[in-house]
Amino acid sequence: MTTEEKSLNFIEEIVEKDLAESTHGGRVLTRFPPEPNGYLHIGHAKAICLNFGLAKKYNGRCNLRFDDTNPTTEETEYVDSIKTDIQWLGFQWDEELYTSDYFEKIYNFAVALINKGCAYVDDSTPEEIAATKGSTTEPGKNSPYRDRTVEENLRLFAEMKEAKYEDGVKVLRARIDMAHPNLLLRDPAIYRIKHAHHHRTGDTWCLYPLYDFAHGQSDSIEEITHSICTLEFIHHRPLYNWFIEQLGIFPSRQYEFARLNLTYTVMSKRKLLKLVNEGYVTSWDDPRMPTLSGMRRRGYPPEAIRNFCDTIGVARRENMIDLSLLEFCVRENLNKTSDRVMVVLDPVKLIITNYPEDAEDIFDAENNPETPNGTRQVPFSRELWIEREDFMEVAPKKYFRLAPGKLVRLKSAYIVQCEGCLKDDNGNVTEIHCTYLPESKSGNDTSGLTVKGTIHWVSAKHALKAEVRLYDRLFKVEDPSNEEGDFKDYINPGALEVLPEVYIEPFLKDAVPGNRYQFLRKGYYCADKDSTGEKLIFNRTVTLKDAWAKEMAK
Ligand code: ATP
Ligand code: MG
Repeated sequence: MTTEEKSLNFIEEIVEKDLAESTHGGRVLTRFPPEPNGYLHIGHAKAICLNFGLAKKYNGRCNLRFDDTNPTTEETEYVDSIKTDIQWLGFQWDEELYTSDYFEKIYNFAVALINKGCAYVDDSTPEEIAATKGSTTEPGKNSPYRDRTVEENLRLFAEMKEAKYEDGVKVLRARIDMAHPNLLLRDPAIYRIKHAHHHRTGDTWCLYPLYDFAHGQSDSIEEITHSICTLEFIHHRPLYNWFIEQLGIFPSRQYEFARLNLTYTVMSKRKLLKLVNEGYVTSWDDPRMPTLSGMRRRGYPPEAIRNFCDTIGVARRENMIDLSLLEFCVRENLNKTSDRVMVVLDPVKLIITNYPEDAEDIFDAENNPETPNGTRQVPFSRELWIEREDFMEVAPKKYFRLAPGKLVRLKSAYIVQCEGCLKDDNGNVTEIHCTYLPESKSGNDTSGLTVKGTIHWVSAKHALKAEVRLYDRLFKVEDPSNEEGDFKDYINPGALEVLPEVYIEPFLKDAVPGNRYQFLRKGYYCADKDSTGEKLIFNRTVTLKDAWAKEMAK
């Protein structure tokens, strides 16, 4: 289906209605509002594709706004990584903005609320405030400070700003209704005192607005038309609207969609930070991480991630998406875009006994049968490396690889017939012997033979050594956050296996970090940034087939 044929998602329907009714003067302005307290993950990709996608589709604009109101957890490193990841995913923001740039404006909004009698300074402790909130069945109780005069509130709020008070001694609360059926509207705190250094405003401020009094206000300041957030904020919407109405500011509107949940994954930044800080992974961009930087390093193409976000669509109800679907999108893309190469992961020697010792052939091998992309030269000689699993001394009937007496094609080269093998004292195969059929040259085969099996190989004297890191799912259960005990107990110990010495064909010597390949019969791999001039390192992006599907069917 093309995008045009696809039915609209519910947010597109809202936007089209707004455009038809000229609700915001025919304007569409969205924003992506990350808190710079961690790296972006695949869940964020969904929000990015949605917000930037709407702007693109409706000729609108999309801002990148850093929601930086919590000085203790935010860092510039995160700001930089977020920008890199959005661009890598293929999007460009119209304006780069920071909630912290609006601190003065938001402070003045609070003063305006005080002046209207819609906010007051409360000296109660956080415990007292919590104890008087009431419950869904019980109304809350008014604070003894609720009826302070406007003058007193203005003076106290100014003193809060002037650093006269310690953290937690006073808060500013909206004065709404302590019996409101929605607990979020029972005089919510909107400003708290926090003596902390901010990554952008330094020590200018010692009081910071809370989420509900920063997010909507920033939307309004930027004149965002459609403020899209995840479902857990649905109950915040009346508060979002209340502030806008009381302040008489630009009427941005909030819409909620279901966040992305993926099997075998955790997505909360707090949990991801734990994995990094406690050494379960090496870094935020560890290829096992569900972060965009981890996926990039693992070899996931940005188009595959965008296609995945498009495929899952935008829903109004929470659901859980199978990680296999993401892997399917990755495979589908890589199948079309990555060149094929030969790499032997678990090598054993193959000697072609009738091939002269000092002879060599150079074969032209096709790079990509799906999307033709030329050929490369692959050298061939008497001694080759092949996969240990491609030989069996005693083979079952349906084994179409090497076994004594059997014929097999060496990919892009000759048909060989297996003669037997040598073994060490423990019975391990050390060498396999074959003869080749000179007339069976690939592309010019006059042997008249048909063989069922084709295996990959690397010429031993031309091969280069490399390291391969086999990555698998980070967790061994579908929903690690929903299991008993700590989510870290469910980490898949097999999520990384290192093969320190594999043999790669010489063509790969020029691979640079980020280059993606299909290792024939073995999966998709990507050169890692840890590669050095001496040693290339490749990450397994994904296997050729869904190995887990078989596992589940057992
Ligand atoms: P976390 O709980 O992991 O810290 P967050 O929602 O607090 O995530 P933000 O940086 O505030 O992270 O998120 C920025 C934007 O990304 C928000 O609009 C949020 O709704 C969206 N987002 C975050 N996680 C997901 C997800 N799993 N699926 C879809 N959108 C998400
Ligand atoms: Mg958040």
